[in-house]
Amino acid sequence: MSNVEYVVSACLCGHPTRYDGAAKPAVPALTALVESGCALPVCPECMGGLPTPRPPAEIQGDRVVNAVGVDVTEQYRRGAEQVLALCLQHGITKAILKQNSPSCGSRAVYDGTFSKRLVAGRGVTAALLEQHGIRVFDESNWQEKTNASG
Ligand code: SF4
Repeated sequence: MSNVEYVVSACLCGHPTRYDGAAKPAVPALTALVESGCALPVCPECMGGLPTPRPPAEIQGDRVVNAVGVDVTEQYRRGAEQVLALCLQHGITKAILKQNSPSCGSRAVYDGTFSKRLVAGRGVTAALLEQHGIRVFDESNWQEKTNASG
């Protein structure tokens, strides 16, 4: 069994994996987790075979559709399954995933109309991990919640 405790969204660690190809500033505490070997960076959309940059996508019912009307549900599912497989392989039971993403969001996602409106919901990867007992946090609550619950 490895010492890896978490998977973490790669874009939170400064990797340029976002749909627009931009790198956001890394969250130092998360980068430190990766550097210490406690966390593995993952990007489910890249792992599912989508290119970077790529058109933004949003959840519409049980599908994921991008801004130019292409159904990318299969790539989203494949990426989620790959992240789950990595968790199972390493015995990882916690994930820290970027909020509001159609893959990684765990509390809210955009409403499917590409009008920047958030609704309560979970991204494809967050939902699959939670279905398999992996606890999903985001960049704003992981320290508080993982410390509170051990
Ligand atoms: Fe970040 Fe997740 Fe989007 Fe990849 S799929 S860019 S890790 S939010």
